[in-house]
Amino acid sequence: MNSHISPAIIMRINEFGESDLLVTFFTPDRGRLKGVAKGARKSRRRFANCLDLFCLANLEYELKRKGDLHFLHSCRLINAFPGLRSDFFSLSLASHMIELTEILFPLGVIDGKMFELLENSFHILNHGARKDALGIFFDAKAMSLGGYRIDLNKCCVCGRDYKGEGRAVFRPNKGGICCLKCGEESTTSPGLSPDSIKVFGLMQSGRWKTVEELSFTNDVIQDIKKLLKLHIEYRIGRRLKTAEYLE
Ligand SMILES: [Zn+2]
Repeated sequence: MNSHISPAIIMRINEFGESDLLVTFFTPDRGRLKGVAKGARKSRRRFANCLDLFCLANLEYELKRKGDLHFLHSCRLINAFPGLRSDFFSLSLASHMIELTEILFPLGVIDGKMFELLENSFHILNHGARKDALGIFFDAKAMSLGGYRIDLNKCCVCGRDYKGEGRAVFRPNKGGICCLKCGEESTTSPGLSPDSIKVFGLMQSGRWKTVEELSFTNDVIQDIKKLLKLHIEYRIGRRLKTAEYLE
């Protein structure tokens, strides 16, 4: 078995045995993996500054002969993203991004686009720009990549095309929006303005650069937060531990 080198984002670190660390990391080409860093608690030299939460590093690893555990051989730090630990909101948001990624992409599920989304989001959060919008952008896009894209082009009940005019209602159980003839606004089916629907559509399929350049109101952010909270809870079947930022 040969060792493999790839960029990786460190998702979790736990003590393992007497002197080792058990590390969960996310890679673009092999998805989420677990590996043992032998002796890492005694001497961190081999893993200099790399085995910390949220770090992006080039990791060299090798699959053990049995099971799905890897041996970590060495690593080289690319970016420690210090801004992610600089305040409580950034720390919560980064933890939330990790938690949602872990749920949507179990061991063995590979998606280079999800790695790119997580890495880019860490870069943006590290620089501290528009954190509120970044949080909902990440969730909208991650859910979409994870297979839970919301169809915004038509009413999920009567099938009528939605042309970007007038309010609509989000239906969590259908994972879609419906027209006001087919549904009423309520706390379990929140209403959405045409602006909110447009911005959400760009978050699901566009790039951060496009979203960042849009000017949208706080009402739009609140509409999308309500939608995402219900959407994630319905699809994932529970409330995430790290969902406070959606409150
Ligand atoms: Zn309808």
